[in-house]
Parts: sequence; structure tokens; C-alpha cells
Amino acid sequence: MLKIIFATGNQDKMQEIREILSDPQMEILSMKEAGIETDVVEDGKTFEENALIKARAVAGQLQGEGWVVLADDSGLEVDYLNKEPGIYSARYMGEDTSYDIKNQNILDRLEGVPKEQRTARFVCAIAAAFSNGETKAIRGTIEGYIGWEPAGENGFGYDPIFYVEEYGCSTAQLPREVKNRLSHRGKALRAMKEILTGR
Ligand code: IMP
Repeated sequence: MLKIIFATGNQDKMQEIREILSDPQMEILSMKEAGIETDVVEDGKTFEENALIKARAVAGQLQGEGWVVLADDSGLEVDYLNKEPGIYSARYMGEDTSYDIKNQNILDRLEGVPKEQRTARFVCAIAAAFSNGETKAIRGTIEGYIGWEPAGENGFGYDPIFYVEEYGCSTAQLPREVKNRLSHRGKALRAMKEILTGR
């Protein structure tokens, strides 16, 4: 039985992670369940670096064998804004600024910009730090565009302004299962699951 410790304090993420990674050969624990606390400075330059920093910080507190620490880092890249807010997505305009304000600011910065230049993507990197010292990082993405107004009540963060062509609506308008199937995090988690089950 592989013991997976996921380095997040976010309960919504934990639920999605359990749903996607669920496997009889794996025991999935949150940091809290594993009795670990960390407060790391995410000073990497890429999503992968930041995820690895978090995974390594938690792995450094564990002993023994047969475990892997997973950590993620995610965000929104808007091509017209030189891939902003990118790795600073959570901190964009300040950590405590509401997403209504952040989203409106991005819409304002894209005022008058035609659809073909409004391309954007959500990125999610997942890093693994194994008990033998090995590490691995992978990424999942979902392509879309920034709409002209916020729409939808599901999801969180930048979902109301991120539209997917295939559905013609924002990811905040998609049911949870549909978003999980398409999303950057869903793709990255499924890719990581393949790596873990293949080891
Ligand atoms: P972190 O990976 O928890 O640091 O989150 C990064 C930030 O990226 C979040 O706070 C959101 O602003 C944004 N983000 C990441 N994934 C999503 C998503 O699925 N929908 C909307 N915003 C997201």
C-alpha cells in the first residue's frame, strides 16, 4: 500500500484529489491527517518549481519508506498579458483582494481586444517527492479564452471569466464533474496517478 500525503491545506482540493486518485492500492492523507505543518516560501520561477518546493519541504519532515508527497501549484496564463498572472495568480492584486475585483481588472485590461487575442489557459503542476529521494513534476493544462463578462457560480478564482470553446461557457458554468474531466488539475492528477501506479 502506497501512502500518499498531499501537501495542501485546501479542503476543496483534497476532495477533488481523493476523487481522482482513488485506488485500492493507495492511502491518501492530507497534511493535517499526516500531522504535518509547513509554511514554505514559494519562490520558484515556474509552476513546477513551486510544486517541487512544497513537496520537498513536506518530504523533509518524513521518515521511513513507502510514501510519496504530492504538491500542486496552479494558475491562469493570459497570453495578451504576457502570461500574467501566472505563478502569481493567487497573489495578483494582493492575496486578500476579492476575485470579483481581480476578474474585473483582467476584463478591463483586455478591453477592446478581439477574441483571437484573448487566449488563456489554466496550468497545474503536480510534483512528487518519493521516500527514496527521487522527485518528478508534471503539468496539465486547459486551453480557453477570457470572455467579456463574468458568468457562473461554480468553481472558484478566475473560473467566471475563463471560457472554454467546446462548451461556449465559462468554467464557472460547468458542472463539477465536467470541469474535473477537462481541467488542468484533473489532467495533471490523472497523469500523476499513472506514474504512481506504474512504479
Ligand atoms: P494555488 O495552486 O492553490 O496556489 O492556486 C493558484 C491560484 O490560481 C488560485 O488561487 C486561483 O486564483 C487560480 N486557479 C488555479 N486553478 C484554478 C481553477 O481551476 N479555477 C479558477 N482559478 C484557478
